[in-house]
Amino acid sequence: MELELAILTYLIAVAFLLIRNHLIAEEIVKELECHKKFNLIEYYECKANDFFSFKTIDGERFLFVGDNENHHAYYHELGHLIFDDFIADSFLDASILLPVLLLPIPWSLMGALFLYIITKWVKKNWERRADIFAFEMTGKKYSSIQPESNKFILLYRWLFWSHPPEKVRIENEYYKKEIPLIKLFFRSLLA
Ligand SMILES: [Zn+2]
Repeated sequence: MELELAILTYLIAVAFLLIRNHLIAEEIVKELECHKKFNLIEYYECKANDFFSFKTIDGERFLFVGDNENHHAYYHELGHLIFDDFIADSFLDASILLPVLLLPIPWSLMGALFLYIITKWVKKNWERRADIFAFEMTGKKYSSIQPESNKFILLYRWLFWSHPPEKVRIENEYYKKEIPLIKLFFRSLLA
C-alpha cells in the first residue's frame, strides 16, 4: 500500500509541476513582446530581463532574451529548446519526493538526498549539452560570473547545482563531448 501511495503522490506532484510551470510561462508571456522566429526550429523570441527558455505542454517553444547582448546565452537557451524535453524536468524534480514518501523506512532521507544529487547530475548533462551547442554555433564559451573560490564550494556546486561549476564551464575540456562529465568532476576536485 505504501508503494502505491508513493507512486500516486509522485504522479500528482509531476502533474502539479507541469501545470504550475505552464501557468507561470503563460503569465510571463502575456506581459512580454514576443515574435515568431525560425532558427533550426520554430519558436517565439521574447524580450525579458534574463535569458531562459520554456516549452509548453502543447509543444510551443519560447526563448526569453535578456537585456545584455550575449550570443552564448542566446544559443545556450536555443540548445535547450532543440534538445531538451521540458516535461522530463517535472519528472526529475518530483522524484525527490519518492523516498520521503516511503518514511518511516530508515534510509529514506539518505535515499532522497541521493536521488536529489542524481537528478541534478542528469540536469548538469543537459546544461552541458546546451553549452556545447552554443559553443559550436558561436565559438564563444560561457563567461564566468561567480567562479568557485575554494574546493568546498566547488564540491557543493557539483553536488547540488543544476549547472556544472563555473570554473569547469570555462575549461576547454568541458566543450569536448567525448570527455565525460564525471572525469571533469574528479579532475577539478583533485587538481
Ligand atoms: Zn541552461
